[in-house]
This record gives sequence, structure tokens and C-alpha cells, in this order.
Amino acid sequence: MSKARKEQCGKHAGEWGAKKMVLAESIFRIQSGKDFFAHPMVIRSSQPSTARIVSPKEDTKHPSDNPALRPRSFDEYVGQSDVVGRLRVATESARIRQTPLEHVLFYGPPWLGKTTLANILSHEMGAHLRQTSWPACQKPSDLISILTGLKDGDMLFIDEMHRLPPALEEICYSAMEDRTIDIMIGSGTGATSVTMNIAPFTLIGATTRLSLLSGPLRDRFGNILKLDLYDEEELARIARRSMSLLGYDGLPNEAVSLIARRGRGTPRIVNRYAKILRDYATVGRDIASPEAISSVFMEIGVDNEWLDQIDRTLLQALSVTFAGRAVWVGTLAAYLGEEAETLEDVIEPYLLKKGYMERTPAWRRITRAGESIIRTLG
Ligand code: ADP
Repeated sequence: MSKARKEQCGKHAGEWGAKKMVLAESIFRIQSGKDFFAHPMVIRSSQPSTARIVSPKEDTKHPSDNPALRPRSFDEYVGQSDVVGRLRVATESARIRQTPLEHVLFYGPPWLGKTTLANILSHEMGAHLRQTSWPACQKPSDLISILTGLKDGDMLFIDEMHRLPPALEEICYSAMEDRTIDIMIGSGTGATSVTMNIAPFTLIGATTRLSLLSGPLRDRFGNILKLDLYDEEELARIARRSMSLLGYDGLPNEAVSLIARRGRGTPRIVNRYAKILRDYATVGRDIASPEAISSVFMEIGVDNEWLDQIDRTLLQALSVTFAGRAVWVGTLAAYLGEEAETLEDVIEPYLLKKGYMERTPAWRRITRAGESIIRTLG
């Protein structure tokens, strides 16, 4: 095989898969006489492995996110003051001791800033951050290749840690505690286990489901930190900062708090509304007064009670369709056409915080406050 074709294989497969790709390319070319890389299946299945390791999240989770709005340092980060306080001490201590930061686990509802904090930690420690999450990291070999590729002091961010299969959790145990991993070579009676050292590193885990992480995995984190929904004053500061970064300084406080109140306790939603308002302003709409902002919100279906369409459907279902009775979570999720996990992690936290509904692990029921909101909305 020519040097150029070897390089092409390397480009398509990334470092780890290059040898396998060379072999596949040879077999395909010999058998069919056609160009392997022109085959449509090859294009679809040959993402470079570095892209999978580094950042599945950037590609899939939040395509509309504007990285410029993401705070880059503790000073820029608004809210979560207990968490930030703990992390400031931990990073300062690690810097003084010249050791990697203890492993950190963030948990709490989505969109509250776990990824943002992981980025800030790497910035504060001057460390290189690598990112992965399920489904990019499903097999032991996926995780082993990431861990063995880490350099001294690197940070590894694993999002949605509760989705890691048990075999991968087990790899994390020794990697986190002893900085070693055991690799099986061969199979059957001839299999032997080889222990490999890995570079000192910090694992930053994030999960919306702390209870689904095994005890031994949780115990290996030196810092376990809970992120809570933001209050309105914090969201107003985030809204003002985002509008200013998007080029709209000087909005009256009342207008900013209208955005904050509709944020459902999460900065991501505040940022989403900030960008929508920017779009309306760009095409000539007035967004300088609370009335003007309210009218944009009505146009996009966000009402004065700061509920969106899915909230209203859920409350109406509990109140009218299920006539105020307790409903099994699976039934409610099926009625709404959502995953039970999305219901629990994304939709319900705000409605619970407002006291519009109550829940046990299995059941959901509307409260009096929820009934009265439904009546107000008509
Ligand atoms: P998670 O990983 O918990 O789902 P992210 O870290 O992706 O949440 O945060 C969601 C978005 O909210 C980010 O794009 C960021 O711009 C914004 N954000 C998060 N936390 C803050 C904060 N404290 N101040 C300002 N913006 C924030």
C-alpha cells in the first residue's frame, strides 16, 4: 500500500483505528477493485476517533448554543455560589500542592452549568479538557483508548455518567483510585490480564441521576457537588450579561427580569430567549420595553405565568384528563409523548419548584396551585 493511502486510512480512522482501516481497505480493494473511501458506508462509519472522544456534546446536544455566552472563569460564572466557593478552594489548593484536582462529580437537573463548570475548571487549572459521554463511550475499548491517551494533568469530562455500562464503571474505579487499568489480552483459557499505568488526571463527571451511579463509583469522587435551579435575581444577571454580549446593553431592569422569570430556573433557557429577542431586534422589532418583550413572548407561545406549551399540556392532563387523580409516571410520559426521564429531569423540576404539582418516585398529581394556574390560563 502506498504512503498516501496509509495516510488516508489514518485520516479516516484516527490513530486507534488506523491499522484496522488499512486491513479493511486492502480486503475491499482486492475483492472489488473499487475505491474504498468512495463507498457511502465508509463515509458514514469512518468518523475519526478523535471527534468521538473529544466532543460528542458539541455536535449533538446544543446546536444552537453560542459559545460566546458560556462563562469562561469563576468570575464570569453567575450563581451556584456554594459550588463555586468549594471549587475555588479546591483548585487553589491543587495549584499550591501542584497536583491534579481531586475528581469532581456534578449532579442536578440538565442545563444548569455542569459542562460550563468543567470547562472553567480546566481553564482555572490550565489543564487540557477532553470530553466524552454515552453513546460515544459504550465499550471498554472506547474508555480505555481515552484513558491511555490522557497526558499528565489532563481533565476528562464524562457527561451523563449514569449511562455508563457497569463494565466501564469498573474501569473507572482503578483509573480514578490507582491510575491503572487492567487490560485482558487473548481469550478463553489463554487470556491474561495486563495492568497499565495511566497519567495523573482529574475525572469530572456529570449526571442528572446521582442515584443511578454505583456506590463504589460515587465514593471515588473527592468533590460531589449539587447544582440547583437558579433564582430570579441570578437569572436576571445572566440575562443582562447575555443580552449585553449579544449587543443589547442598557435594557431596563423590568425588561431583563421578564426574561429571567421565563427562564424556568435555567441559564440555557434564558440564553435561548436572549437569542430569540436578539433575532426579533435584528429584524427591526422593539425589545426595549417590558411590554414589547412580553408581546414577543406571547408570539412565541410563552405565557405570562412563564409556562411553555409542554408545561400547560402536562398540567391540563393532570387536572382534566386524569381528573386530579394520582397518575403513574409512565402513563403521563406516554400521554405527553416524552420519555419518562425527560419528564423527570427536564419538565417537572420547575413545576415542582413552583408547587404546581407533586410527585413520588412513581406517581404524579396536580396541586391546588396547579389547578388555579390552569383556571387562570383558561
Ligand atoms: P449542563 O451541562 O448542566 O446541561 P451547560 O453547562 O451546558 O449545562 O449550560 C447550559 C448553558 O447555560 C451554557 O451554554 C451556558 O452558556 C449557560 N450557563 C450555564 N451556567 C451559567 C452561568 N452560571 N452563568 C451564565 N451562563 C451560564
